[in-house]
Amino acid sequence: MPIVNYDRYCKMLNRAYENGYAYPAFNVSNMETASAVLMGLEKANSDGIIQISIGGAAHASGANIGDSVLGAILLSDYIRVVADRYNVNVALHTDHCRSSDLNSYLIPLIEETERRRKKGLNNLFSSHMFDGSDISLDENLNISKELLARCVENEIILEIEIGVVGGEEDGVNNENVKNSKLYSTPEDMLKAYEALKDISSNYIVAATFGNVHGVYKPGNVKLKPKVLLEGKNAMENKYGKGNAFKFVFHGGSGSSKEEIKETLNYGVVKMNIDTDTQYAFTRPIVDHMFKNYDGVLKVEGEVGIKSVYDPRSYLKKAQESMAQRVFEACEDLNSVNSHIDF
Ligand SMILES: [Zn+2]
Repeated sequence: MPIVNYDRYCKMLNRAYENGYAYPAFNVSNMETASAVLMGLEKANSDGIIQISIGGAAHASGANIGDSVLGAILLSDYIRVVADRYNVNVALHTDHCRSSDLNSYLIPLIEETERRRKKGLNNLFSSHMFDGSDISLDENLNISKELLARCVENEIILEIEIGVVGGEEDGVNNENVKNSKLYSTPEDMLKAYEALKDISSNYIVAATFGNVHGVYKPGNVKLKPKVLLEGKNAMENKYGKGNAFKFVFHGGSGSSKEEIKETLNYGVVKMNIDTDTQYAFTRPIVDHMFKNYDGVLKVEGEVGIKSVYDPRSYLKKAQESMAQRVFEACEDLNSVNSHIDF
């Protein structure tokens, strides 16, 4: 299927919100991982979201180039072409963009969409995240308002962040952030709702409830999904039922199935998964290397075995393993068989 347009993307998110499921959003950084996501989604008959971080995009442009805008364009164009071969609806998203990266990453990507639209072409991305967690809430909301207006004009969904997602991802380390910042307050959520409500309702919000990037041993992360319910109640009590955020769950890797299911009742429509699919991709490669030790290496004057050091031999296994983890994420989020036949 073609990458979803704005109308279809809005319908997907609304349907998830109304029916208590969420779309998994997988980070990819190359062709292999992008294809693995498409394979897994199709297997689950689930629609979903593919996203690209700044670091992932830089990687995709080539190690010596390291240009995140170029890499994001390359991956987007690749996925746009190949997604047509799969029978699922996919939205293309860019992950965390801090305020300091706005002018070097997010704005150039929106400008590229504006250029394409002028030529009658499709958007480069379906949605973008602005992560204003490194500035004050007032500054964050001022920028978010401006961005949302510009996104609406270009039929792009905007994701914003209130609070701070803990842990470490993509070189951004929030492991020492003050504990209170890791839990969004109902007051802050209400303030954000009021700042954006007259612009559009087509945006999504990463509110934080103790979630962290990466995977930690049990007991080290105190998730409080009720934080989302408290925010939802604050908005609905003032503005009526259904007038609340569609939430994004960051740091989904390593969360318990119960915690994930609970958030679906509070309006979570998107959950980001990166660490768990990274591991699923790498695990069979490790197996391959250990089992074929004397084939992947040229030991003691031998020549090794071409068929096992050909990268295709282990990347295929990696793709299949990651696709299986994608399928499991769809099960966790109740999105299996959610595919909409538009
Ligand atoms: Zn995140």
